[in-house]
Amino acid sequence: MEHFLGWEVELADSCFDSSAFIMMDYRLRYQDSTSFTYVLPFSDRHALIEYTFFTSYLLKEDVYEDLLRQYLHKYLGSIPYQIRRTEQGVIPMTDYAFGNDHKRNLKKIETAGGWVRPSSGYSFSASGRYVDQIIKNIVRNRDIAPGVAQNRWRWYDRIFLHILQHNNVLGQGSLKRCTKTTTSNC
Ligand SMILES: Cc1cc2nc3c(=O)[nH]c(=O)nc-3n(C[C@H](O)[C@H](O)[C@H](O)COP(=O)(O)OP(=O)(O)OC[C@H]3O[C@@H](n4cnc5c(N)ncnc54)[C@H](O)[C@@H]3O)c2cc1C
Repeated sequence: MEHFLGWEVELADSCFDSSAFIMMDYRLRYQDSTSFTYVLPFSDRHALIEYTFFTSYLLKEDVYEDLLRQYLHKYLGSIPYQIRRTEQGVIPMTDYAFGNDHKRNLKKIETAGGWVRPSSGYSFSASGRYVDQIIKNIVRNRDIAPGVAQNRWRWYDRIFLHILQHNNVLGQGSLKRCTKTTTSNC
């Protein structure tokens, strides 16, 4: 599962580089897990900071809160801050064959249709492409499913899920090539 807690924070002083974001920062890890922080700035004082896990277990809310506090303290200059908004979520990371649940006249979409990328929990960009494809299929008077939620990366997703499930701590190494971490300026 991809599970996370995010705080939209307003700092008392400037710190963020609003022209850059921090993705998958592994400096603060929870035990032997694949866990990391995102920092998505809106301005030099205002950002969404999200602590995220790729694990098969969930944690109590105070664990995520404590990690966010630690990150603000260690890597964002320990500047006083206010929490404007919070967000949290749990997104499935699975290679379950969702396509098997389609019926002749009932095709599932989004999470139920397997549109969420198992290795990242993302769906928005693919959903746009799949909706375009469904519209094309309908206009051509075809079944709506062909070309939807089938992608050549599924095999790689499966390998990554296998690593996460059997040796969770190795997730960071597996993701290295597709992550970019920058350091904060403050
Ligand atoms: C905090 C958060 C941040 C995320 N950020 C990103 C991101 O940056 N990029 C990305 O690609 N993905 C992101 N995701 C994942 C993405 O939001 C989901 O993968 C996607 O929204 C799943 O779409 P869905 O239609 O399956 O579910 P949802 O978007 O949850 O839609 C389900 C809808 O069904 C409605 N509903 C539920 N039960 C009933 C019922 N019984 N009757 C009628 N209506 C019902 C709900 O109200 C809801 O509107 C994020 C998820 C969360 C939680």
